[in-house]
Amino acid sequence: MQECIFCKIAENKIPSVNIYDSGKSLAFMDIMPARKGHVLVIPRKHGEILSDISEEDLKDVILTVRKVTDAMFKSLCCDGINVHQCNRAAAGQVVNHVHFHLIPRSEGDNLNFGWPHEAYDKGEMENIAGKIRSSL
Ligand code: 5GP
Ligand code: ZN
Repeated sequence: MQECIFCKIAENKIPSVNIYDSGKSLAFMDIMPARKGHVLVIPRKHGEILSDISEEDLKDVILTVRKVTDAMFKSLCCDGINVHQCNRAAAGQVVNHVHFHLIPRSEGDNLNFGWPHEAYDKGEMENIAGKIRSSL
């Protein structure tokens, strides 16, 4: 995946401000932060969405997410942290290499992660849940 910007960062072919490297995953600063201190965590091996990443690599990535959020809470005096991950363009994914956003939050910062709420018809929630369960 030579044209993938995050593969290039993982291979040190373009500069990045790195936070932590586990060997299997890498944490680095987002160049266009939603809030100052916004960190990205990626698996080193390329995969577009979560199901493209091996269990071993995914475990390592989520442990890196936890390690870095712990460090952010200790160092940035933030009141909260959003962990955000998008799968495919319809969900807002722009860079097609799995990544987790770690966004530090302050009370009243007005960063809007709110979304509207849909209402289910009678039996619809159970029906949709059944579809998901039967695909596990
Ligand atoms: P997405 O919209 O795909 O969930 O998030 C991609 C993120 O990657 C964005 O927040 C964007 O600011 C960040 N980004 C894009 N290109 C680069 C880059 O070259 N270096 C770094 N450090 N971050 C990048
Ligand atoms: Zn990649």
